[in-house]
Amino acid sequence: MKTDVLVVGAGFSGAVVARQLAAQGLQVLVIDKRTHIGGNAHDRTDAHGVLVHPYGPHIFHTNSLRIFDFLSQFTAWRPYEHRVLASVDGQLVPLPINIDTVNRLYGLDLDETTIQDFFDRVREPRDPVATSEDVVVNAVGRDLYETFFRNYTRKQWGLDPSELSASVAARVPARTNHDDRYFTDRYQYMPRDGYTALFERMLSHPNIRVEVGMDFFRHRGRLKARHIAYTGPVDAFFDHCHGRLPYRSLRFEHEHLPDTPRFQPVGAVNYPNEHAFTRITEFRHITGQAHSGTSIVREYPQDEGDPYYPVPRPENERLFKRYDALARQEHDATFVGRLAQYRYYNMDQCVGAALKAAEYVLAALGRDAMDTAPDAPVQPAAASGM
Ligand code: FAD
Ligand code: UDP
Repeated sequence: MKTDVLVVGAGFSGAVVARQLAAQGLQVLVIDKRTHIGGNAHDRTDAHGVLVHPYGPHIFHTNSLRIFDFLSQFTAWRPYEHRVLASVDGQLVPLPINIDTVNRLYGLDLDETTIQDFFDRVREPRDPVATSEDVVVNAVGRDLYETFFRNYTRKQWGLDPSELSASVAARVPARTNHDDRYFTDRYQYMPRDGYTALFERMLSHPNIRVEVGMDFFRHRGRLKARHIAYTGPVDAFFDHCHGRLPYRSLRFEHEHLPDTPRFQPVGAVNYPNEHAFTRITEFRHITGQAHSGTSIVREYPQDEGDPYYPVPRPENERLFKRYDALARQEHDATFVGRLAQYRYYNMDQCVGAALKAAEYVLAALGRDAMDTAPDAPVQPAAASGM
């Protein structure tokens, strides 16, 4: 069968592009070098029957109704609002920093009318706010920065916050209220049957073929298509000709605790100043699964291994721009996703980027851009029971 578009990577970016193009009548081949679909969002039941995320905890959140509606074609949802506690000075306190975090840490009694005065007293204004150190110190001062951010960031990235762009720590802004949810997005849900089931439905289309366990670079010469949608690391596509683009990796240590209804009070506990791992996630909080035991994962950051994070800092952005210039000259290839666009994208942002990329591919192949008309009707968002 002829292939119109070869999609490299079966994660969110690749699967969305594939589905959109297939819906327009193109023949799509999706390959992934891993032996499964879903990319880093892949989930599966472990040996004890607990649904876990092998590549670390994935919580879906978005402000975009368009993206939520798009994914709702392939899954029902379970409402879930993620909460994170940080282990500091022998206690567990809410993260992002909120009024209760400050009160518990310093024995104060601040409220919504006085918390900003507190931050104004302790903050160290920075201009410009260029780095992750700047963004935190500028907002909440040195002590809270050192308690929650400095060491966690050094562990996570192998870099000091002063060496990372402001956008990294800006993901976790301090609050002037009691909101202890990790995300404030409008739509916060988990796919009811898990991510892999969502991907199976998204890729289940007569115009899509999927081959897992296939590395693009090993088969590049014989994989013929009119266009390639590439979602792997962009530097690898160009044989690292400008040098290696840094990606940060993780080692995951999974553990099952039998006959344990609950390991920790919330989905994730962060350890900024203790241990070599950054955080422990307990999956049953996130998935809502009933089970007599519980499964957890510890994340150990490292340089080697699968590429999980682009590393946002100016020198890496400059190197990426050189690869991006090459990518733009490839008229028969489109680069999309967290690794190919070298962007610290969440899942919803990958979906958004992939919807755009699909339009671009269609235009490149000489068809009209879609009107967003996927082949199944889009259901309105409902809160539960979908
Ligand atoms: P990927 O999921 O990385 O998929 C790319 C695929 O391409 C991979 O499967 C890879 O095997 C394949 N590939 C690469 N090279 C080749 C090749 N040469 N040949 C064939 N296949 C190849 N986002 C959220 O929204 N919420 C969260 O809570 C969240 N938590 C996260 C936690 C961790 C630990 C990590 C690492 C990420 C998290 N994310 C989260 C981000 C989320 O994982 C990404 O936004 C999203 O999964 C990226 O999708 P992608 O398709 O761009 O890339
Ligand atoms: N961060 C931190 N301490 C924390 C949580 C986050 O210093 O307890 C910083 C750290 O640099 C981290 C970044 O904020 O990499 C973004 O955190 P997020 O939880 O969004 O990271 P992710 O879930 O993407 O790994």
